[in-house]
Amino acid sequence: MEKNIVLLKGDGIGPEIVDQAVKVLDAVAEKYGHKFNYTEVDIGGCSIDKYGVPITDEGMEKCKNADAVLLGAVGGPKWDNVDPSIRPEKALLAVRRELGLFANLRPTRLFPQLADSSPLKQSIVGNGIDLMIVRELTGGIYFGKRYTEVVDGEKVATDYMTYSEHEIERIGRVAFESALKRNKKLASVDKANVLDSSRLWRATMHRLAEEYPQVEYSDILVDNTAMQLIKNPTQFDVLVTENMFGDILSDEASMLTGSIGMMPSASLSSGTLGMYEPIHGSAPDIAGMDIANPIGTVMSAAMMLRYSFDMMDEADAIEAAVNKALDAGYRTPDIYKDGFKRVGCTEMGDILAANI
Ligand code: NAD
Repeated sequence: MEKNIVLLKGDGIGPEIVDQAVKVLDAVAEKYGHKFNYTEVDIGGCSIDKYGVPITDEGMEKCKNADAVLLGAVGGPKWDNVDPSIRPEKALLAVRRELGLFANLRPTRLFPQLADSSPLKQSIVGNGIDLMIVRELTGGIYFGKRYTEVVDGEKVATDYMTYSEHEIERIGRVAFESALKRNKKLASVDKANVLDSSRLWRATMHRLAEEYPQVEYSDILVDNTAMQLIKNPTQFDVLVTENMFGDILSDEASMLTGSIGMMPSASLSSGTLGMYEPIHGSAPDIAGMDIANPIGTVMSAAMMLRYSFDMMDEADAIEAAVNKALDAGYRTPDIYKDGFKRVGCTEMGDILAANI
């Protein structure tokens, strides 16, 4: 197969980590007889420096016409004080909107080899954590009407949380399909004891659950979910939730795994086009030092193969390559402990590519 991939390397450690993912993708292409064509598009601070905007219209068109987009990270102190209308993150929101990326998939995996990196006790994490949060990305309170007015002499601010049935149904389908590909368990997170939008969410999920009898479905309130993620995270397989709850819970979940550098994510549209990125930022404190952990980006590339290209064996091969590197004791500084083999970003990329 031949696929066109746009690389949005971005700022800080972005270029270093994306380069390692490309190495691994090239090894996959060679082994399985595929051809991956790469087009680089500037995004974030580097684009502001060159063009005065965080992504150009031409760059956006290239993203829209690609088979998939792989992103490093954007931003850094240099651009913290630019005009808010051209801040680096504006480009990410624009790409999500233009590509119709309404579903954010965040697998949270604590590799058994790194069990002692988790802030949770060994008795709680057991043989590792492996859950997936499916977050609605283009609706809810972050996209609702908002305003601040003066009422009876004081300021009053209002944000609307709005969801339509079709928005809930399409994210629900992504979640049920994800559960089918995993351990067939889905928990839908809401606040249906208080919010109307959550009651519609729950009713819509129940309707969908009837279409997926193979999936063991349950409802869970968001406050209880926040507790259960700490108390008993291994009970979960797939969690689906609205935009703001998902934003908060996915950050909570990512911390269970020890290092932010290990975690991938996918943002999907209704077609096969998706954007894939590690969950961390541009880590300006370690940029250019060749010590960043590239595994989150490499695992994002594996998700790209799985979700946009339907290359399941190839995605499995990348995950196996990561496991093999960890089993062999290779660790970037963020996950390094005495007795293991300390490697930099480039060397970890070389090892992962060789393991393919
Ligand atoms: P960050 O995720 O960049 O860094 C937080 C900490 O984690 C730092 O100590 C960093 O060194 C470490 N870290 C992150 N990724 C790592 C990796 N792969 N390997 C080893 N260590 C890693 O968060 P921040 O410092 O709050 O933000 C830095 C910049 O990134 C800001 O400008 C912020 O706006 C931006 N940001 C971008 C994205 C994105 O592009 N999607 C997401 C979050 C933050």
